[in-house]
Amino acid sequence: MTTDVMQIEFRKTERSRIQEVDFNNLPFGKHFSDHMFVADFVDGQWQNGQILPFDNFTLSPALSSLHYGQSIFEGMKAYKNEEGEVLMFRPLDNFKRMNESAKRMCMAPLTEEVFMGGLEALLRVDADWVPSTPGSSLYIRPYLFATDTFLGVAPSKTYRFCIFTCPVGTYYAKPPKVKVETEYIRAAAGGVGYAKCAGNYAGSMYPTMLAQQAGYDQILWTDAKEHKYFEESGTMNVMFVIDGKLVTPAVSDTILKGITRDSILQIARQLGIEIEERLVSVEEVISGIESGRLTEAFGAGTAVVVSPFSVIGYQGKDYMLAEHPAEKSIAVRIKNYLTDIRTGKVDDTFGWVY
Ligand code: PMP
Repeated sequence: MTTDVMQIEFRKTERSRIQEVDFNNLPFGKHFSDHMFVADFVDGQWQNGQILPFDNFTLSPALSSLHYGQSIFEGMKAYKNEEGEVLMFRPLDNFKRMNESAKRMCMAPLTEEVFMGGLEALLRVDADWVPSTPGSSLYIRPYLFATDTFLGVAPSKTYRFCIFTCPVGTYYAKPPKVKVETEYIRAAAGGVGYAKCAGNYAGSMYPTMLAQQAGYDQILWTDAKEHKYFEESGTMNVMFVIDGKLVTPAVSDTILKGITRDSILQIARQLGIEIEERLVSVEEVISGIESGRLTEAFGAGTAVVVSPFSVIGYQGKDYMLAEHPAEKSIAVRIKNYLTDIRTGKVDDTFGWVY
């Protein structure tokens, strides 16, 4: 198989697993589509683009990414429109963000040919795996990791890029309860918070487990210095509706620049909703819940799209967010609009659909 820009070898699976999947009941990240795309960075260039049956890798015990953590990833989704065409949402933004992560982690950047060529070829081969049921989509996981077999803290000279996909349904079955974290941190200024590197997620697991043991689903991270301002939550950026305005923490080097976040802000602007990107303090949010000035609090990310929080826990006390009537909710209004753009139901005036 060839794409316009890159020669890609294709080895088809001998037995498709698609019949084994119940597309009406899709857990997140458990069913993997038949194929994967793999390319290697060797001798200073990307080569060996291949579509292969989804299968194990053979890896050296000395693989440097396993020891020193040069490992980054992306997450994006594809949808089917009513004509059955496969649509991707802003994939070039994921490509750009992946290279920002690669730069911070001192890894070889991807070329657009490899990223987009691999993605397109893979989705052509596994197009049948893109669900068409409402609320479902094909989650796409591109990732890049160091493959030098060498011990020593130094950037690897070789890397592997892989993309595989999974059909998925909705992420949280019900609105999550989130806990304001005041002991642990996710990211600090000058650090790697804005990069989508594996270690950021490893570091979040222990505090998240403690929050779950305390009865919450997820953490609302605060700044590393004072635990005073909100950052983000799990794999979501966070947004609040205060006095009818859409308020969200301004992005910085401690916050991942979410593509969903950016899309929501652009849609809100178009809908004439007032936006504030600034520091959002815990105090402002808690007092806003108490006074009724805060009407909505939600997470935004590829996996969840938009996920309203049901409870914000802070210093041992739970602050309930009354369910906002759907017809009045800014989150619901924007989510529906975003979903309609992604699935090709309304005109894509932003040029986001690929
Ligand atoms: N923050 C973090 C830490 C994330 O992992 C994600 C998911 N990529 C997001 C925010 C949301 O980003 P996006 O909208 O691009 O999925």
